[in-house]
Amino acid sequence: MNLLRTELLIDGQFVPAQSGQTFTTYSACNLQPLAEVAKAGLQDLDRAVVAARRAFEDGRWSGMQPTQRGRFLREIAQRIRDQSRAIAELETRNSGKTIGNALNEVDAAANVFDYYAGAMDKFYGDTIPMGDAVLDFTLREPIGVIAAITPWNFPFMAAAWKVAPALAAGCTMILKPASYSPLTALALGQIVIDAGVPAGVLNILPGPGATLGERIATHPGIDKITFTGETKTGATLLKLGADDIKRITLELGGKSPNIIFADADLEKAAVQAVKAGFGNAGQSCSARTRVFVERSVYDQFLARFVAATKEVKLGDPLQASTEIGPLISQSQWDSVHGYVQLGLAEGCTLAIGGARPKGLDGAAFYAPTILANARNDMRVAQEEIFGPVVVVIAFETESDVVAMANDNIYGLNGSVWTRDIARGLRVARALKSGMISINSHGSASRYGYLAPFGGYKRSGLGRELGLHALALYTEIKNVFVDLEN
Ligand code: NDP
Repeated sequence: MNLLRTELLIDGQFVPAQSGQTFTTYSACNLQPLAEVAKAGLQDLDRAVVAARRAFEDGRWSGMQPTQRGRFLREIAQRIRDQSRAIAELETRNSGKTIGNALNEVDAAANVFDYYAGAMDKFYGDTIPMGDAVLDFTLREPIGVIAAITPWNFPFMAAAWKVAPALAAGCTMILKPASYSPLTALALGQIVIDAGVPAGVLNILPGPGATLGERIATHPGIDKITFTGETKTGATLLKLGADDIKRITLELGGKSPNIIFADADLEKAAVQAVKAGFGNAGQSCSARTRVFVERSVYDQFLARFVAATKEVKLGDPLQASTEIGPLISQSQWDSVHGYVQLGLAEGCTLAIGGARPKGLDGAAFYAPTILANARNDMRVAQEEIFGPVVVVIAFETESDVVAMANDNIYGLNGSVWTRDIARGLRVARALKSGMISINSHGSASRYGYLAPFGGYKRSGLGRELGLHALALYTEIKNVFVDLEN
């Protein structure tokens, strides 16, 4: 495949970086160069902020009737669907995720645009009863210029989760995609232009997080940051924006529990533990990477879990039958393998995996790995590995497992498997986590857009999806009218 060349999207035009600089982005499928990407610098950021600010202040977008803005969003959704195959293939080539996952994520992104297309004109303010002498009501106003910074693991979908509600609310935007996988965000930019959204409403600037990203966090022309990525980076952005009281939404890391009680359907729980732990090659904030199993069924569950893991098909992510593709890079492979070695040194037993799968040498493939006989205080049970590695920990009682599950800095997701629904609900309530599923590996995100997505503790701040996200792209203004003056 020829090397692709991409430009920045600023004020409705695709343009080279002012410095003329580019960077290479690689294909995770074969670790070969895939594209030369225009590299945004600080001057490009300033130009994009001016464009976004102008597009916001002139009211063409922010002042448009919400129903009309919704029509543009619906058009974007349709264009995404029309191009879904091409977008998904580009996503797979760049990130190494399987084509099946990529197609699902592109479809989910289209659904998110459809959802917010129909949401904004139903998102009312309130009238607050204060008696006949007064009329008091609230307005929902768009915050202004939003900067979205997105990670490499769900490039197109993460962009859609931010762009759709922000545009629906009437905000304008700058989107900085991850340097490992910037290509489909640029494809989204082209779609937004083709859908007729006014120039400057969405600007897209691939470039280095450490310089461009940090300047975004302190830029006086940006009103809000919406970030998905590592907890450490999120904390940096929170500090950088503190002096300006910059609005911020953070979607960060996770180390989510998957709790299996003895009365659960063990076969279903085992099969779905594979998806929950190893989906997207484990490069998922939602991965349930701490599997807690009631002691009386520990051996039985582990045997089923290992058997189900053996069935997983690794290979070329562009093949429709492939279930797990490679990791994003060799350095990610080294980090994941380092954790597996650490787990063994900490006293875990390798139940399966722990190496590069045989015959898969051309990319950073890592075999799905189960570290058994783990303890919750081990580093492999506490830290986000971000690869296909889960630990399995035995527990004795409901209260023990709740205490262990909550004993972690993260609180993004979690699953509980039991046939006792009262216990399932009790545990769901007791877990300090933004999302819980009972008898399912899926979570709110399975339906793509309807329910809030986000975490407790160091997994984040604020929520994405649903009406909750829309609220976070608006300010509330209260208007008080004295009817007797
Ligand atoms: P990073 O935090 O490294 O990067 C995320 C984005 O931030 C990239 O665009 C990156 O740019 C940019 N960035 C990096 N450093 C800075 C900085 N100092 N200031 C501003 N921006 C910066 O995360 P990853 O890309 O490695 O993504 C993986 C992480 O994301 C995992 O921890 C995962 O759990 C989390 N995640 C959370 C989700 C959630 O919804 N809770 C969903 C998906 C992922 P560049 O690429 O140029 O470095």
